[in-house]
Amino acid sequence: MINQKNVGLGEVRSVIRELFEYGKMRKAQIGEENVYDFSLGNPSVPPPEEVTSGLKKLLTECDPVELHGYTSAQGDYVTRKAIADYINSQFGAGISPNELYMTCGAAASLTITLNAICNSGDEVLTFAPFFPEYSVFADHAGAKLIPVATTKDEFRIDFSNLERALSPATKAVIINSPNNPSGVVYTEDEIKKLCSVLDNYGKAHGTEIYLISDEPYRELVYGNVKVPYVMNYYARSIVCYSYSKSLSLPGDRIGYIAVNPAMEEHLKVYSAICGAGRALGYVCAPSLLQKLVATLQGVTSNISVYKANRDMLCSALESYGYSVVKPEGAFYLFVKAMEGDASAFSERAKGYELLLVPGDSFGVKGYVRISYCVSPDMIKRSLPAFKALAESYK
Ligand code: PLP
Repeated sequence: MINQKNVGLGEVRSVIRELFEYGKMRKAQIGEENVYDFSLGNPSVPPPEEVTSGLKKLLTECDPVELHGYTSAQGDYVTRKAIADYINSQFGAGISPNELYMTCGAAASLTITLNAICNSGDEVLTFAPFFPEYSVFADHAGAKLIPVATTKDEFRIDFSNLERALSPATKAVIINSPNNPSGVVYTEDEIKKLCSVLDNYGKAHGTEIYLISDEPYRELVYGNVKVPYVMNYYARSIVCYSYSKSLSLPGDRIGYIAVNPAMEEHLKVYSAICGAGRALGYVCAPSLLQKLVATLQGVTSNISVYKANRDMLCSALESYGYSVVKPEGAFYLFVKAMEGDASAFSERAKGYELLLVPGDSFGVKGYVRISYCVSPDMIKRSLPAFKALAESYK
């Protein structure tokens, strides 16, 4: 018999994918412009011009054998050097190319990292709401994902819940700030407090707790919000980065893992990352994309569009009676469903051609996720539907 767990994973689509597929079908039935699809986190802003010109330059000026050939398993040295230089210039983390491992995006970065550090029976904590694939990634690494509830309606770290959830089996804590789906960005004070709780627990119990920072939305922050760099606060930290959202390249699959050199055992952890990458077949991330991102450090797509979308949606939804916490980053709104059962609310929204993802799979009941990485025009056209949906509950 083949592996039944994987059969199950392959057969059951995520709620998000399910809704996206429904949207495709519905668009074919009633026309694209009549369906308000807020299901996926696929950037709506095109990649910056530097991506197109950079690719053209690489394709016309580089030796094609080298350009399309294998790189080192952990990634091209020149790329890793460019990334290390950028990280050091921005955050002063003192990282070298030998602490960086190139990957096919944040999903691969997380899977490799969890497989690198976890042993069977370990626990991995994360704060709810969280990216639902974390459960799959942790499970595959032999660990158990333990969601930790955050503060009511604001989704900030609840430190007493965290202290209760820590155990001698805790191997790692995953944070995702800016957060999918809440848009919360942890402040420096929150990060400092988190790190001191983990440090104290580890010292008191003689355990090693890794802090994994999942950062596909690092640059997507609005106003003067700053995203603290975890390496500056906690030695046992690992950053899982992706260019999927910052450069609007989700289909091209490129990102990296960065291991904090301040960690005593960083050489061993890096070896484990190389080993897990090897065992999973995640070696030599796409060469063309590696060479491209080497030249695009600090460049982003035009993320101001997302801020305008956020502002338009938040003020309209609030005026219709929705309870909205204005996100500080990423491109999602996590909105209270107008009935206790978020799936029933999402079903009712479909009647108004609104595709909203029920929040249960993110570990919080009673909310829906609205991805506002869509065209401003679609948001404008969808507003009467949001209004009618709210009125249907009055
Ligand atoms: N982590 C979070 C929080 C995400 O939202 C996503 C994608 O939406 C990922 C990881 C996976 O990102 P990537 O496309 O870079 O694999």
